[in-house]
Amino acid sequence: MRIDGIPASPGYAEGPLFDLDQPPAGYEAKTGAAEEKAALEGAIGRAVGRLAALIETADGDAAGILEFHIAMLEDDALSGPAFAAIGSGQAADAAWRAALDGEIAGYEASDQDYFRARAADLRDIRDQVLRALSEDSAPAPPPGAILYGEDIAPTRFLETDWSKGGGIALKRGSAASHVAMLARSRGVPMVVGLDIPAGPLTGAALLDAERGGIVFSPSPAETETFRQSASSFAGRQGAARTFLTEPAVTKAGTTVRVQVNIAYPSDVDGIDISTCDGVGLMRTEFLFGKTLPDEETQYHAYRKVLEWAGDKPVTIRTVDAGGDKPVPGFTVKETNPFLGLRGIRLSLARRDIFRVQIRALLRAAIHGNLKVMFPMIATPDEYSQAAALFAGEQAALAAQGVAHRLPPLGIMVEVPSVALAPEAFADVAFFSIGSNDLTQYVMAAARDNAAVAHLNSIRHPAVLRLIAAVAAFGQEKGIPVSLCGDAGGDPAAIPALLEAGLRDLSVAPAQLAMAKAAIADVPV
Ligand code: PEP
Ligand code: MG
Repeated sequence: MRIDGIPASPGYAEGPLFDLDQPPAGYEAKTGAAEEKAALEGAIGRAVGRLAALIETADGDAAGILEFHIAMLEDDALSGPAFAAIGSGQAADAAWRAALDGEIAGYEASDQDYFRARAADLRDIRDQVLRALSEDSAPAPPPGAILYGEDIAPTRFLETDWSKGGGIALKRGSAASHVAMLARSRGVPMVVGLDIPAGPLTGAALLDAERGGIVFSPSPAETETFRQSASSFAGRQGAARTFLTEPAVTKAGTTVRVQVNIAYPSDVDGIDISTCDGVGLMRTEFLFGKTLPDEETQYHAYRKVLEWAGDKPVTIRTVDAGGDKPVPGFTVKETNPFLGLRGIRLSLARRDIFRVQIRALLRAAIHGNLKVMFPMIATPDEYSQAAALFAGEQAALAAQGVAHRLPPLGIMVEVPSVALAPEAFADVAFFSIGSNDLTQYVMAAARDNAAVAHLNSIRHPAVLRLIAAVAAFGQEKGIPVSLCGDAGGDPAAIPALLEAGLRDLSVAPAQLAMAKAAIADVPV
């Protein structure tokens, strides 16, 4: 049985089916105190193991922090109260949370800076063990599985091991969603808008994310045809790879800068810096995941990417939480989150959280060629407020004698008010067009809704006209303009973007070769 849908991340996957909509796995209480005790010991052990593995790849400062976390986890004084509570009948997760929360409150109440700063470490440790506890009972997909269901959260995507292949088949979702963007950046095949029948499905399936479709219980003939298409796709990708090591140049000899979009510091591990012109967009909201990262965690994440890039630019975007990227403890529940407290609006409303990120960025800036941009800017006042916060934190770091640098500050152009009246922003250091959001706001078609996906097209003249206007404004005023929406890596959209005047694109790493190959074909 073949069902057609919309391709969201190209590629082919053949493998067992895995139902994403199984009831959410939380921590399952065990039958007695001895089992609860064993569960907590096991979870602490796994958290220690994970930290030890991270130390292998961490640099000096980060390794020091991780070692400190391990030492705390191995300290009986910290876990003692939790084990005592288990002895008097509590479940492992509640006992651990209560014990750590008690410690954290004590540290937070201290009048010494040093001890107050340790509260963040304790929160981190608390959450690592809680995560390890609930993973005990969470069903994990088998290697190479095709994950199917209503939708998939970005964090679930990031937690999945894609090293053995696999793919995603969704009933809802959209090619413009954040998880689709993550799938493209990791080269994970994904199809959305599939009318998958209700009820559990078993056996193997064939996912064709080039044309957009899935075949359940395939016949030998279907499998044969599928494998031929998969190998032709791999062949075309291989051919495009010859463009990877060369600068991107059009048919007419125009040079185009091609940078990469990343979501996670570890994304750069698989990219050869010589194949791109830097990082055009580092999304930081995924760092925020299930817990709010402290200043040290963020500083090390940004520093890692800056050091990897050397003297090439790295544009880090301040957190764009909200919309379809909820962050527990930060974002608010809204009836229309794409039009709500999202991006810079939320950061300006929660300055305590924003300031932590600003300090981490200012400190990391000394390790490379950093630029910082703000997401979802709609008015010049938002930019001025954000820039003033940078100046304020810079002064505070200078007063404390902490090494730092103020990077150039630019804005995303993704709200139509900015694209229509860019002259209000003549003092920003650069513009970066967020075509994913710009398109959804111009077309009034939510980027995560398969039912309106046909409207969500960057090639609509209204969207292209705005992009061309911003490119022309930047040219006139000498303000650099790039584009970091996913259209930049789409071979079908690249000719229109270059014709609109853009010469600077930032694309998902998996799209780099195909984008350069497509640029070579454009006559401008
Ligand atoms: C965009 O909107 O095009 C963009 C790059 O930002 P995000 O996809 O993270 O919203
Ligand atoms: Mg956006």
